[in-house]
Amino acid sequence: MPVSPLNPAGPRLLLRRMREVMASPQPPQQKLDQMVRVIANNMVAEVCSIYLVRAGDILELFATVGLNPEAVHKTNLRVGEGLIGEIAARGAPLNLADAQSHANFAYRPETGEDIYHSLMGVPVIRAGRVLGVLAVQNVTQRLYTEEETEALQTVAMVLAELVGSGELIDPSEVHEGTFAQGHPPKIDGIALAEGIAIGQVVLHEPRVQVTHLIAEDETVEHERLDEALRSLRSSLDNLLETSDLGIEGDHFDVLETYRMFANDRGWIEKIRDAIRGGLTAEAAVQRVQVDNRVRMAKITDLYLRERLSDLDDLANRLIRHLMGLEQGVVAELYDQTIVVARNLGPTELLDYDRSKLRGLILAEGTPSSHVAIIAKALGIPVIGQIEGIVGLVDPGDQIIIDAMTEQVFLLPTQDVIDVYEEAIAVREQRRAAYAQHRDLPAITKDGVEMGLHINAGLLVDLPHLDDTGAHGIGLFRTEFQFMVGSTFPRHDAQRELYSRVLDAAGDKPVIFRTLDIGSDKVVPFLERPKEENPALGWRAIRMGLDRPALLRYQLRALLAATAGRELRVMFPLVSDVSEFLAARSILDREMGRHRRLKHTPPSRLLVGTMLEVPALAWQLDALIPHVDFVSIGSNDLMQYLFAADRGNSMLTDRYDLLSPGALSFLAMIINKLTEGGVSVSLCGEAAGKPVEAMALIGLGLRNLSMTPASVGPVKEMIRSLDAGKLRAYLLTLLQLPDHSLRSKLTNFARDHGVEL
Ligand code: PEP
Ligand code: MG
Repeated sequence: MPVSPLNPAGPRLLLRRMREVMASPQPPQQKLDQMVRVIANNMVAEVCSIYLVRAGDILELFATVGLNPEAVHKTNLRVGEGLIGEIAARGAPLNLADAQSHANFAYRPETGEDIYHSLMGVPVIRAGRVLGVLAVQNVTQRLYTEEETEALQTVAMVLAELVGSGELIDPSEVHEGTFAQGHPPKIDGIALAEGIAIGQVVLHEPRVQVTHLIAEDETVEHERLDEALRSLRSSLDNLLETSDLGIEGDHFDVLETYRMFANDRGWIEKIRDAIRGGLTAEAAVQRVQVDNRVRMAKITDLYLRERLSDLDDLANRLIRHLMGLEQGVVAELYDQTIVVARNLGPTELLDYDRSKLRGLILAEGTPSSHVAIIAKALGIPVIGQIEGIVGLVDPGDQIIIDAMTEQVFLLPTQDVIDVYEEAIAVREQRRAAYAQHRDLPAITKDGVEMGLHINAGLLVDLPHLDDTGAHGIGLFRTEFQFMVGSTFPRHDAQRELYSRVLDAAGDKPVIFRTLDIGSDKVVPFLERPKEENPALGWRAIRMGLDRPALLRYQLRALLAATAGRELRVMFPLVSDVSEFLAARSILDREMGRHRRLKHTPPSRLLVGTMLEVPALAWQLDALIPHVDFVSIGSNDLMQYLFAADRGNSMLTDRYDLLSPGALSFLAMIINKLTEGGVSVSLCGEAAGKPVEAMALIGLGLRNLSMTPASVGPVKEMIRSLDAGKLRAYLLTLLQLPDHSLRSKLTNFARDHGVEL
């Protein structure tokens, strides 16, 4: 039963008392001892304890009232151990009426806590790092109210200042000690963009430390907030009106979203509540920001997470306004800089000087996040989902990113640095060698000529067409323009992008794929229904056919951009022939309109489809008469063939495209289309992997479209391959019961001098 014995004078009185304790001239340990008494008194709790993180991720009881005083500086829990450890590990409060029945309860007999049933604890966080836990306990079983949790969180902020001052624990103990005690200086994450890099840490948006926490006068703080909000809004307006901002209006879109948030009433009201609780305006913004981060950690919906992260950036800006600090200062960069951030917007990445930026590490981030898309296009390695990374590093720390093994090495030893310097040198040499191969034909030793194309989606991709010597763009993902924006790209913006792509490509062919939205491809401004299984849901051409205006609009922009040039269009996620015909008839209607308006028609129109849904593979005879080309989207095709989510890292290596079953299926598709006179290509990730590409050539595929960085390695493989020999061998393997033919194919390559 939630009863609230919270002292009616409440949080304000508590804060005032805390300020007095902080300002008193006593040693820090005595301040802690006094704090626990003040808090216990004010919150009518029988116990109040403070645990602080020491070297090796140990939480040590530093002060208590209610528990056995003998346990102070003796009771230790590992981060993650017991309820206190769980609060520290999650960085979030716990509120339990019956703590002892919780699965994670860890009894420490020396504390004498067995008589206390209810427990509420909050993390003590400073600059993103959990420094300890503050907890209260009561004998009776009761749930603490939301107001009480908030009050304790606010007190924890004040406590964080005392702990962060370094008077109680030398900060270097926690930082260096963490590694010294065997905590691996190597942390696993998720590769968001390929590559290896060594550099020195630059923290994105160096943290603003709010030091003035407790308000003298509430009215003044409300006025300061009003003023800061006004200047925040006008600075956003100014930015929006500045015409010389970055690439293709991305800044504009992001800022537009920010402007929307800056007027968000819910957010501002929460800040006002915190001011009413006795905090200064900047401390109030930070309080709400901490709550927001806790919410963010729980949210799995990608779109919501990204919007909350926008709100987080905005809070930083607002704090800067309140503290009179300059906005958007990019820290001084090292010659080899690795940026470390909790999360980053795509345009914020573009703000960094690319001649010095070597890599990016994010505490959050997903492969489909905007920043990952841009980083890939720029060739910057990114590792994401390393929780707490921002708190683990200091500016200037040496750090290594290895996206191949999905690891980050903090403060690596010289041996490790030597190994990675060597690896980077080898990659550079290979890259230089590939550059020299740029103009060599992609032809096998036995004379099979291959078409090598690149996948693209943004303007930053276009220079790769030239520097890789690719034959064209085999897949232009038009949805990227939508994904990096926060408003619908208008007709002119779409036409402009397509036209610039065609300009850059010159005589080389470009295949535009119409919008492939849905599933992992989140478009910020499009409301979407909640779906049980988004990958099997309302996405891609299904949306295009149900909302034909969107598709028509895009086809119109494509026709306008083409004006007299060749246009190649394909549709994503077509499941049967009738869907293709329906999409095609929308295109035909747009062509008719284009002609009626006497606009210049394309010199040639080629229409094709992606093959990503297995069902379509069984309708190829019916499809062939209607298509000019087919592009196999192996990413989705394999996910549906094996019923294995392509984004689920637990399944990444479970099924293999190089299995006899999948290869037989692909062989059937390639044979049928080739015999039917339809040009067939493959544009999934497999096309860019040398062993997979080799197998596909063995199956008879003659066109591949891949990420630009793969063109060099794949061309090298092709030029060292005898396709006839491989085919003869491969066809003998397709009936085997093996899980994968990978090792057999790799051995073939080694035995026959094929460069992989
Ligand atoms: C695919 O599914 O293989 C493909 C190329 O499309 P995307 O990765 O954009 O879904
Ligand atoms: Mg796909």
